[in-house]
Amino acid sequence: MRSLAFSSTFTSNRELHDKLYFRNQKNVGAQGVMVKSSPLKTAMVFVLIIIVVVSLSILSNRIWGGKHEQVQEVNKPIIEQEMTVAQFGRANELSNPVLKELFELKSKTDLEKKLNEYGTPDQISARVVKKLALASEHGSKNWLKIPLKFGLWFAFLATTFILLKKRKVGPRLRSSLLFVSLLLFGVILGSDPNPMGTIKDAIHLYGTTRAIFPPRLIALAIFLVLVFLANKYICAWGCQAGTLQDLIFHINRTDKQKAIIGRQIKLPFVLTNSVRFLFLGVFTLVVFAWGIDIIEPVDPFKIYKPMYLGFSGGISLVALLLASLFMYRPWCHLFCPFGLAGWLVERTSLVRISVDYETCIACQKCATACPSTVMDAILRQNKQTIPDCFGCYTCRDVCPTDSISFSIRKRTLPPADFFIKGPKDKSVK
Ligand code: SF4
Ligand code: SF4
Repeated sequence: MRSLAFSSTFTSNRELHDKLYFRNQKNVGAQGVMVKSSPLKTAMVFVLIIIVVVSLSILSNRIWGGKHEQVQEVNKPIIEQEMTVAQFGRANELSNPVLKELFELKSKTDLEKKLNEYGTPDQISARVVKKLALASEHGSKNWLKIPLKFGLWFAFLATTFILLKKRKVGPRLRSSLLFVSLLLFGVILGSDPNPMGTIKDAIHLYGTTRAIFPPRLIALAIFLVLVFLANKYICAWGCQAGTLQDLIFHINRTDKQKAIIGRQIKLPFVLTNSVRFLFLGVFTLVVFAWGIDIIEPVDPFKIYKPMYLGFSGGISLVALLLASLFMYRPWCHLFCPFGLAGWLVERTSLVRISVDYETCIACQKCATACPSTVMDAILRQNKQTIPDCFGCYTCRDVCPTDSISFSIRKRTLPPADFFIKGPKDKSVK
């Protein structure tokens, strides 16, 4: 028999949080942007966010645009029968040091050797493409900026994590943090660090040139280790496309707003994940078969580099942002390759959302407040299909009995029929 008087167990932190969280609840979504409901005002906030992000990004690109971090396309080299190494170098504008490295030349006289001594045209072409692709990758990076960007990113994520842990983040601060994240890592730092770009570019580079760029693999490993450590926390607060979608999602969060703009939907995970698997499969297939990157024209991260957006990019971006009003992070759930890779890794995450069924009263407020279907799956402990959890803390924040934590605690199974009958002997006083 466990009779619990939950209200007396709340900590002062909890009280402080409640004050922050539920203050102005009439005007603020469950964790969202301050909006007094009216279709016009909502439309204005939506347009304003896009205009602010695009115009500041244009400005930022002008200011910081000294070194353009765009990888140059590598074309197949010109190879003719009976060419010497030196002739091959001249035809393809390759310097002698590059030729020396490519063909492992021992002396200058080797430049006059026939090209066919070093392999078939296909072998030479593959070797040259790979070498030039790696050189192009290397040359496109600003090696001084990268550690600084990562340092700032880690500092921001750690600060947010501490604030959330201490229950200091109410709806306004949440929106501000999301905005600061996209401003810093999207607008100012040019969409960097970028988990999705890292995995997409790695597949594209290997598919088109069979080259592996080690720094990119290191970055990918860091992102995945972070997912292993703390779920999709990096997606929640550190991804520029993710935070933008999140911010827009919270324009339409209160009942009043939904009555005006339209209901938000939670698509079944089996559907969104199947689309995501399929999309990654098609992307990989097209890259390997034809060398075409189908994500590039619709890449939502290009909002931070508007000059590369193009017509299809602009249309798809507006569609995505409109969809974000009605669905939580549509890009992440339906298309993002890192979303999929992260989901696979987060199944073994150390720190994650778990429920204490000793104190849970089965009210399921957490499942209602969760922006996707994940809390519902966690409550029911369907281990095979627990969807992506972004570590947004919404479920913990709405729980009236403090039964939810984002911690190392192992997930346990609820008692049988717990959510059908509910706990018989518990009450909130
Ligand atoms: S899943 Fe979403 S938040 Fe995570 S990398 Fe992809 S776009 Fe960004
Ligand atoms: S389970 Fe909780 S932390 Fe995870 S996405 Fe849902 S509300 Fe956010």
